[in-house]
Amino acid sequence: MIKSLTVLGSTGSIGVQALDVARLMGLKIVALTANVRTDILEAQIREFHPGYVAVVDEKAAAELKIKIADTDTVVLSGSDGVNECASMQADTVLNSIVGIAGLCPTVCAIKSRNRLALANKETLVAGGSFITELAKEYGVDILPVDSEHSAIFQSLQGCADKKQIKKLLLTASGGPFFGKTASELENVTLEQALNHPNWSMGAKITVDSATMMNKGLELIEAARLFDVAPKDIDILVHRQSVLHSAVMFDDNSVIAQLGVPDMRIPIQYALTYPDRFVSPVRELDLAEYASLTFAKPDYDTFRCIGCCRTALEKGGIYTTVVNAANEKANELFRKGKIRFGDIARSVEKSLEFSGNGIDMTLENILETDKIIRKETEEMWQ
Ligand code: NDP
Ligand code: MG
Repeated sequence: MIKSLTVLGSTGSIGVQALDVARLMGLKIVALTANVRTDILEAQIREFHPGYVAVVDEKAAAELKIKIADTDTVVLSGSDGVNECASMQADTVLNSIVGIAGLCPTVCAIKSRNRLALANKETLVAGGSFITELAKEYGVDILPVDSEHSAIFQSLQGCADKKQIKKLLLTASGGPFFGKTASELENVTLEQALNHPNWSMGAKITVDSATMMNKGLELIEAARLFDVAPKDIDILVHRQSVLHSAVMFDDNSVIAQLGVPDMRIPIQYALTYPDRFVSPVRELDLAEYASLTFAKPDYDTFRCIGCCRTALEKGGIYTTVVNAANEKANELFRKGKIRFGDIARSVEKSLEFSGNGIDMTLENILETDKIIRKETEEMWQ
């Protein structure tokens, strides 16, 4: 069982839950990082005594340094500080940064041969084959934290030959707008979009769940993690979020992982794998559920899912492209600058990208991300 942990993005929804698990497991915390929320970080420093923390915002980092002068924790700053924390030796680095900002820290963790527990799905979506090949080159395991991918990973334990996988069944809650039409969703408010039925998460992923872009990103994430063709990944809307995803094998047997919707289960499994450990999460009582339902998604209303499938089929840089368009459009929607329906329009438009689509180097990935963000911003000015 691991003894030491670094949490990148420790002040966010996943980061805080990861530290709940770390507390229970008695893990030593090597380093913690945040963007700007130093009040939460200060409390974490006082409880977990990490050797290092990094804060991206320089001013917030300078203020924190003064506030925690009575502790032994060293404060680093900027993106370089986060990369430095990701590079420090730890039994596991958990990356729960939101967005493409998590990509370079992932690269640093891999290059330092740290085992990687990955919540930051944008790493695999934007980084694509560059990341999976880098992890292979350095012999680093990527352990999924995303609940669906943890479920698939758990369902695959004991499967010696991946060729026996027939399909992945990726489940989706359907978000707050299940059953609505595209025209009904055109002008929904941020407050409505943030009202997720089953999960309490950061704002960006909650909006991604409302557009169902989250499921598109997860389709790409699953294809990358498990090396399964997009045509062999089915998406199923399952409103209760109890069956977290499944694998169908060649003999048509389906193996799934179930549990109450609480991210501390997949977070903990990524830390304890291949072992299991007692959990603070309550037991699943299936008798509480009168029925578990499954349905096909409405691809006409939630067009982002189709865009992600197209991006995956086009290959190369196109998954970087749809991720960048979505990140910018999601941000513009949260700032009240575009309508809800414009998020899908932005992602659709990005697929027209005709730049360097083949070169999967880190430089080209970051450059393409920048180009698409700028184009998406200009589209709505
Ligand atoms: P939050 O917004 O709650 O937290 C994001 C974390 O990243 C915070 O610590 C934040 O710091 C930090 N951060 C933000 N911007 C930057 C930046 N530019 N550079 C470095 N750090 C930054 O997000 P979530 O915890 O909800 O999600 C994190 C990741 O996990 C996402 O990729 C999401 O898709 C994935 N995920 C989340 C799930 C969930 O239940 N929340 C479920 C499955 C996957 P600060 O607090 O200072 O702003
Ligand atoms: Mg998920």
